[in-house]
Amino acid sequence: MISKEKLTSAISRLRLMRGFPHADADLIAALAAELRDACADEETLDAAVNAVVRGDDYWPGVYAVRKAAATYRRKREAAADFARAEELRAAHEANCPGFKVSIDERNRVVHCDRCRVSWPGDPCSDYPDRRELSCRRGNTIDVDSIAEAEVLRRGHGWITGTEQWNRTIAEFNASVSRSLAERRSE
Ligand SMILES: [Zn+2]
Repeated sequence: MISKEKLTSAISRLRLMRGFPHADADLIAALAAELRDACADEETLDAAVNAVVRGDDYWPGVYAVRKAAATYRRKREAAADFARAEELRAAHEANCPGFKVSIDERNRVVHCDRCRVSWPGDPCSDYPDRRELSCRRGNTIDVDSIAEAEVLRRGHGWITGTEQWNRTIAEFNASVSRSLAERRSE
């Protein structure tokens, strides 16, 4: 809701601008109706009028007020989204160990991965760290050591996911070398 006083003072400020049309009662009433329609609340009205009055010397027209109100609304929604994402992250981090161990019984591999859960943050932000919030509990965790400890506990024949990956790469490199050598000897 926007009070009459607030609306009157907003219009007075807009009238300070150069090029504002000679204001009769009809024009003021029409502008008041436009402002009410464009701004859902007094906070938005303040922000929109501030942006317009401080942005230019000349009265830019009603469309500029609508645009400023929409920009403010978007920013406010983005800030609310960000605050919500921060809350969700805090609740998650309170119970998250920061990593997840998964066991591949068939291949005898122990995988340990950092927690990568994330929440959409502020889509309007220019700062990448605000675009998406992710769990920070795993940031300082040495997942390789955890996997290695589990491998030791399980004993002979078990390897870590990292070692499995290294072996796969080594096998791939070896097969590439082999086929190159075969091609050369043909
Ligand atoms: Zn987590």
